[in-house]
Amino acid sequence: MPVASAATAALAARLAGRPGLVLERAAPLARLTTLRVGGPAELLAEARTEADLVFLLRTTHELAAPWFLLGWGSNVLIPDEGIPGVVVRLGEGFRRAAIRGTRVAAGAALALPKLALRTAAADLMGLEALAGIPSSVGGAVAMNAGCYGTEMKDSLVSVRLVEHDGTRRRLPYAALAPGYRRTNLHERRAIVTRAHFELTPAPPGAARARIEELRQRRRGALPTGHPNAGSVFKNPPGDYAGRLIEAAGLKGKRVGAAEISARHANVIVNLGGATATDVFALMLAAHHAVRDRFGISLDPEWVLAGHLAARWREATGDEASASSLSFPIPV
Ligand SMILES: Cc1cc2nc3c(=O)[nH]c(=O)nc-3n(C[C@H](O)[C@H](O)[C@H](O)COP(=O)(O)OP(=O)(O)OC[C@H]3O[C@@H](n4cnc5c(N)ncnc54)[C@H](O)[C@@H]3O)c2cc1C
Repeated sequence: MPVASAATAALAARLAGRPGLVLERAAPLARLTTLRVGGPAELLAEARTEADLVFLLRTTHELAAPWFLLGWGSNVLIPDEGIPGVVVRLGEGFRRAAIRGTRVAAGAALALPKLALRTAAADLMGLEALAGIPSSVGGAVAMNAGCYGTEMKDSLVSVRLVEHDGTRRRLPYAALAPGYRRTNLHERRAIVTRAHFELTPAPPGAARARIEELRQRRRGALPTGHPNAGSVFKNPPGDYAGRLIEAAGLKGKRVGAAEISARHANVIVNLGGATATDVFALMLAAHHAVRDRFGISLDPEWVLAGHLAARWREATGDEASASSLSFPIPV
């Protein structure tokens, strides 16, 4: 996508005068994802403050321009062709946290592990199990991220949002209907700017010790050394996606430079120079093999960006797939 469409060029021109928006055209995105694959954004825009984000969304709304919000990039597959419209990132003004008693307010661009360490240092319990997830706070809100039986929804009380037309809102987290690695944020087409947690007081050092204990446990559970984006598929009820893919004989299968990890079959690793096309082909191979062998249709945990969600639906016939909710969607 070397040349921006006329619509995106018009959008860039409208946004260019705003000092709180850092713009980059034809911006490579692979470097902004943990899997390190995918093409460019027609336009990348980093908003410094919430007011800048409101301005950006009002403008995309007026021009009916598509947008996609990228957090830490640890749960997305970006197509090789790139993403049309504007890819939005949250900047400096969204990385702060404030702790008052047991209440914690955290900006959406703050790293979740950093937040967990800060709250543990304040002897507050609730986020220890989430400390090992390579996520932004906003991404974890959007995915209702979870680990070792703890999910964001257990301690997240409310969220501050900017809606697709620039309206600001504060909602109880329950209003986003958090479920297994999903919320209704995609349907709402809203961006989380801040998360409000209620945590529990803990004996001195207990939360920090628990983080350390879980870190040791986590070590060895996932493949290390090669870029990846964590679990590819959600676990179907009563089973594990990794077990099913392994039982279908696909552990270690390669397409190009992408591999279904020989260590954990629900992880695809980039051995160096993999493309999104390689990764997508492996996802489909795993999906088809498990469906043929066990009659189970695996649902991606990853958000499939750009045209990949539609391609997934076409190739699998899975209309209800979570990936159908990915941005950009028609405005
Ligand atoms: C090594 C590894 C281990 C992992 N382990 C776990 C685990 O144990 N548990 C788990 O749940 N996940 C895990 N993941 C997956 C991933 O880290 C989580 O899903 C994470 O919460 C995604 O956050 P992100 O900031 O990277 O979001 P991104 O990947 O950038 O985006 C994911 C989705 O969230 C949306 N989004 C991001 N920020 C916002 C925002 N501010 N407002 C609205 N929407 C937003 C994006 O538009 C996109 O649709 C792992 C990933 C890796 C690479």
